[in-house]
Amino acid sequence: MAARVYWTDLRAKGNRSLLDKMQRLAEEAGVMDVVAPGDLVAIKLHFGEPGNMAYIRPPFVRRVVEMVRARGGLPFLTDANTLYRGQRANAVQHLESAVANGFDYAVVGAPLVIADGLTGKDYVKVKIPGVHFREVHIASAAVHADAMVVMTHFKGHELTGVGGAIKNLGMGLGSRSGKQQMHSDVLPSVKTDKCTGCGKCAEWCPVEAITLVEMVAGEKPKAVIDYQKCYGCGECVASCLFDAIRINWKTTPQAIQEKTAEYALGAVHGKRGKVGYLSFVMNVSPECDCYGFNDVPLTQDVGIFAALDPVALDHACAQAVNRLPGQPGSLVEGLLPGEDKFLGAHPAIEWEYQLLHGQRIGLGTMEYSLHRV
Ligand code: SF4
Ligand code: SF4
Repeated sequence: MAARVYWTDLRAKGNRSLLDKMQRLAEEAGVMDVVAPGDLVAIKLHFGEPGNMAYIRPPFVRRVVEMVRARGGLPFLTDANTLYRGQRANAVQHLESAVANGFDYAVVGAPLVIADGLTGKDYVKVKIPGVHFREVHIASAAVHADAMVVMTHFKGHELTGVGGAIKNLGMGLGSRSGKQQMHSDVLPSVKTDKCTGCGKCAEWCPVEAITLVEMVAGEKPKAVIDYQKCYGCGECVASCLFDAIRINWKTTPQAIQEKTAEYALGAVHGKRGKVGYLSFVMNVSPECDCYGFNDVPLTQDVGIFAALDPVALDHACAQAVNRLPGQPGSLVEGLLPGEDKFLGAHPAIEWEYQLLHGQRIGLGTMEYSLHRV
């Protein structure tokens, strides 16, 4: 059966604010019905790496906090620590980064809890009927919350093509060890002819797997990857400004997407009817908000979407983006309405794998009906 996906555009007809439009959307879609009085409600977010400006604006989050409180819930904002070095790899830096990006109690009206604890080791082993995994490592605050509102900045992604609700749930709520399991099929290699020796990739590599080596005396050094250390997080791929690092899929390009969908299934395990989703198809940047930068959006802004099914929601958001022309000045400038903007930005990545697998394992359905609010 098709899932219902609701959306609102960004027009201000009748001078209604986007906050009011989002609230009406969430109520119509039943997102707030997941909250019962007394529930501990995790509002799952990506706080954005400092320097990135594409993440969800904090006032939207404050309104969701107020809506949860109005239903009698006890909201907290949450995300799990990252694998890569960045500024969100432990709870201290993660909280500092979140506050720097505006997710402060004074702004959002709720406390922040880093879901997998101080160093990312606080997780629960959740049994799932997956193909890659029978057990996944989910950040404990997400497991112990009674309900969840998943707020997603919908965008492109350098490893999964599309970064939507499935990605936010699966990669976002996997503990650091879980993230490592999801990434382990991807290994990069350096195109030495393009490498300028700038060292950016080595700076970002979380396990110091990259060194700069002078291969020809007197010439600039080249990046060299130590495959004994590399676990395929892909951070070096996006940090290279010279397209000098390519991804080599050890198995198939779909593995990381399927694993992410399985982690998403683990993240919602035991929460039937207790998870609602809001996706912001705005600032649709080509890459993840994990980077301290964001490129020109692939298309113009589309709107805000809401549903109770993450697979249907991601499908609807991706198709809505692809119906638009590529934005002038973006990576996909010149692509026509109907052409795939995500594939245009990341040509090796067929992003539908995460949806197909999500559907296969019972996370949701790709079939949807779209309702305008
Ligand atoms: S970031 Fe790119 S150009 Fe710079 S050292 Fe690494 S591979 Fe070479
Ligand atoms: S993919 Fe490997 S080399 Fe690249 S940043 Fe990650 S661990 Fe380091």
